[in-house]
Amino acid sequence: MSKEEQHDGQPSSDEWMADLARLVNAPGYKRWQSMVAATGGCGHPVHLAGQSMIVDAGTGEILHAYTTDAEPSGHLLVACGNRRASVCPACSQTYQADTFHLIRAGLSSGKGVPETVSAHPRTFVTLTAPSFGPVHAHRDCRACRPRKRDRLCEHGRLVGCHLRHAPQDELLGQPICPDCYDYTGAVLWQAHAGGLWHRFTLALRQELAGQAGMTRRAFAQHAKVSFAKVAEYQRRGLIHFHAIIRLDGPNGPTEPPPDWAGHHLLTQAIPPAVHQAAVTTPPSSLGRWTLTWGDQLDIRPILLDPSADGLSERAVASYIAKYATKGAEASGTIDHRLSCRALPDADG
Ligand SMILES: [Zn+2]
Ligand SMILES: [Zn+2]
Ligand SMILES: [Zn+2]
Repeated sequence: MSKEEQHDGQPSSDEWMADLARLVNAPGYKRWQSMVAATGGCGHPVHLAGQSMIVDAGTGEILHAYTTDAEPSGHLLVACGNRRASVCPACSQTYQADTFHLIRAGLSSGKGVPETVSAHPRTFVTLTAPSFGPVHAHRDCRACRPRKRDRLCEHGRLVGCHLRHAPQDELLGQPICPDCYDYTGAVLWQAHAGGLWHRFTLALRQELAGQAGMTRRAFAQHAKVSFAKVAEYQRRGLIHFHAIIRLDGPNGPTEPPPDWAGHHLLTQAIPPAVHQAAVTTPPSSLGRWTLTWGDQLDIRPILLDPSADGLSERAVASYIAKYATKGAEASGTIDHRLSCRALPDADG
């Protein structure tokens, strides 16, 4: 560790060792160790202080009493439960494993879901953000954005880029011209992506019913549509949604949908639902914006037989579980909230 790093608020290795030795020899070490083990090695446990009592309501007898005063540090440690790997590696691993089993159960059975669910129509869908202007991209052995070498945008910058960016190049995801790039649109789209997803789920129910020749209410008496989604951050800082969409009988995964509500109906209804979904932003100084999905849409069947032309249940469950614990940092951007504040006047 360099001298500079030691002054960065981090203890030096000597201080760290001394701290560790003091801890191991402290009287409450065994109890502290068992509390840490109970949190699963959480990196940021919550320190609770207080007391609890279990009292017999009839007799008033105290059946059990506990106070954190008796704990080594006067606190009870509880796992933070944060699912982002960048915040707590231990808790995010627990969440990832739980997610995998939950998604796997929803695809093939387990946790109260019967095996027959494997026969229900299921697709793996990727919904994307629209383009807000060209950005630098990694294209294996090809140039980033080949254009005529002397063509300039209105800001005097080259409209093309003939570099072959390496996968870790910091330019990746950055606009070719920051002044041409629609940052306002990109920020508004990201802020409303959750709302846009909700509109898509409503539009899909409407479209499924419409293609089946009935009202939404009538469709709901025959079949139910379920969703499980995760967001994946791209290099340009915007998210993609990956989702599993499944059709069940009217009471959920325990019963099959009718024969006419099959894989064909599900995959036919998704594209028009994606195109119809839109969110209009509330009025502000930026005006009112109508936000929609990007043109890229990927729909793939989830199959029992992984050798067929589709995705296996296990692969899909692993994919969803992986992205459930990743934040923006996985794509090389930052993983914390940004805020704007005015800088002090340079003259004052
Ligand atoms: Zn934790
Ligand atoms: Zn480039
Ligand atoms: Zn420009």
